Amino acid sequence: MATLLTGKSVVERMAQGLAPRIDALVQAGVTPTLTLVRVGERPDDLSYERTAVKRAEALGIAVRRTMLDELAPQEALEAALIELNCDSDVHGCLLFRPLPSFMDEGRVCELLVPDKDVDGITLASLASVFTDGRTGFPPSTAAACLEMLDHYGIPVAGKHVVVVGRSLVIGKPVSMMLLRRNASVTICHSKTEDLARLCASADIVVCATGRARAFGAEFFSPGQTVLDVGINFDTQGKLCGDVDFEAVEPVVGAITPVPGGIGSVTTSVTMAHTVEAAERAAAHRGLLGTAACGNGR
Ligand code: NDP
Repeated sequence: MATLLTGKSVVERMAQGLAPRIDALVQAGVTPTLTLVRVGERPDDLSYERTAVKRAEALGIAVRRTMLDELAPQEALEAALIELNCDSDVHGCLLFRPLPSFMDEGRVCELLVPDKDVDGITLASLASVFTDGRTGFPPSTAAACLEMLDHYGIPVAGKHVVVVGRSLVIGKPVSMMLLRRNASVTICHSKTEDLARLCASADIVVCATGRARAFGAEFFSPGQTVLDVGINFDTQGKLCGDVDFEAVEPVVGAITPVPGGIGSVTTSVTMAHTVEAAERAAAHRGLLGTAACGNGR
């Protein structure tokens, strides 16, 4: 039976680590503040928003909302982001994506200042992931994969990790972050040949394809660690990951469930990035020593 890598204990440990840092900020007169920016009312966004608000409130992070009608012109969203950039009381901004198809998402994302980019959507943040820089923050889900491995003491250095998926949100950044930790990373995608054999040869497999229960037992081997990043709905409308959990759990050494795995940690990572963004801003204004800043990378 595999070890279940649940997000709950990771979330609790992260909250314990954040509490004194948030206290120190409040003592310095700074309330860490996250603004959620949503266009329209997509059920996925609303559900994530509820989770984020609950998590933030429990930690003592203030949440603001900027909401635009789904037919709002791109200029309205751009103006809202520019206003956020200039608001020194806002430390982090989470823009729900995908944006409506008539908007130029790349252009919109680039408007956010990297200092407030707590979900790694700007090119400057992504460049830092590739160059080991300290501008902005890495995408939260990619960072959540590392948090999960660290929390459960799963070594990465020298290990062979297969990452399935090459998006800028998960596949590519998590591959770079694992590489920085001295893993040997194989990045796979929809054109990869012999994917099952490659996955089965790895020490750790990260599945991030968005294909409901597509990874059956034939993709895995005993002792492996499996991080299932997928958030999908099966034909019955039930929430599930990319991995066929029932078939794979008896085979591997450790596995994240869906729900209750990487997704729950992702929200906490965004909160941790917001706290660090507030620390960096406070240090810049001389309200907090630079040594007080956590390390979001
Ligand atoms: P994308 O659609 O942007 O990327 C999917 C990737 O999977 C692509 O690189 C694609 O390859 C690859 N892929 C698709 N089909 C196959 C296949 N048959 N074999 C191998 N690779 C394949 O998705 P995202 O990266 O944005 O999201 C992936 C999943 O993660 C989704 O389920 C999403 O809901 C979930 N997610 C979870 C989050 C969390 O907090 N846990 C946060 C964000 C997303 P190619 O490039 O060749 O097309």
